[in-house]
Amino acid sequence: MLVSSYMAGLFFYAPDYMAPGLGLLVVVGLLASHRLSAYALGPLDLARDALQRLNSGALNNRLYFSEADDELGQTLTALNSLLDRLEDTLERQRRFVGSVSHDIRTPLTIIRGDIEVALLRERDPQEYQETLISNLEEVERITKLVEDLLTLARADYGELGLSVNSVRLEPLLTGVKDGFYEQALARNLEINLHCQEDPVIEGDSMRLRQLFSNLLENAVYYTLEKGEIEISLFTDPDERTAQVLFKDTGIGIDEKDLPHIFEPFYRSEDSRTLRHQGYGLGLAICESIIKAHQGKIKVESQKGGKDSGTTFIISLPLPSAGLMPVA
Ligand code: ADP
Repeated sequence: MLVSSYMAGLFFYAPDYMAPGLGLLVVVGLLASHRLSAYALGPLDLARDALQRLNSGALNNRLYFSEADDELGQTLTALNSLLDRLEDTLERQRRFVGSVSHDIRTPLTIIRGDIEVALLRERDPQEYQETLISNLEEVERITKLVEDLLTLARADYGELGLSVNSVRLEPLLTGVKDGFYEQALARNLEINLHCQEDPVIEGDSMRLRQLFSNLLENAVYYTLEKGEIEISLFTDPDERTAQVLFKDTGIGIDEKDLPHIFEPFYRSEDSRTLRHQGYGLGLAICESIIKAHQGKIKVESQKGGKDSGTTFIISLPLPSAGLMPVA
């Protein structure tokens, strides 16, 4: 349009002897600008229509444009990938809300059923006590779930609120290991802790304890009778990290589950058949605690066979200056 008006202006002010040539030029200009605007507005019209469709509901619409290699095409492609991410996030959120609702409703249904049965007739004090004990267990389950959800939500907003101090990892891990003494005894499991060093890191001791307890709880759960769990602590001087390994001789993780185990509410078939009471939030919380400490977590696993087992490897940064590992 700009080109044609410029030409029309030129024609309007041109001296007479130039008029016929300019007339031709103007016609060519008008045709060219018409083609240009059709080219420029066509895909925009398509994009606008698609955006209107998106706006009116279906998020699975995409902005199609066949000549995707120019500026407009690249913009639409970028918009499409933004839409992919949005759709994915919304879908995950939908599943998340579904899982939360289900996991809160189940213990509530149990509590309600217990109370209704207890109230059907007069009972002796012991029966009431049993009902209350069972209710308390369910309330504790809901409380744990809500606390875990809060932790995840805070982590999502970067508000885990770490209370950072110098933390010696060796005594922390010893405390965590000791906390599982009875469970390990009951399952005939051996838990060994090897500390080559006693690194000091800057972190939140409560959150770090939660992280290591979650990993040890899983190791205990997924390791069958007479299995072995090894916790190792050492430093990597090149990477300037403290490394903590949790290695078990348990059932292992299926290859198809491995990419998903850190997703909230993801539970493997094994987890369900073993009737593990978890909600599939443990590893998601571990990951968020590690991220908040600028650390990393890796997992290696072998399912079945004589080498069956899982190893979680956690790296946590050592303070860059001043605080060195205690020898
Ligand atoms: P859950 O409550 O199911 O244990 P987590 O988030 O702690 O939830 O773990 C997610 C999944 O990772 C589990 O369902 C299980 O399949 C797998 N997993 C975690 N730790 C281990 C382990 N040490 N051995 C085998 N599988 C494990």
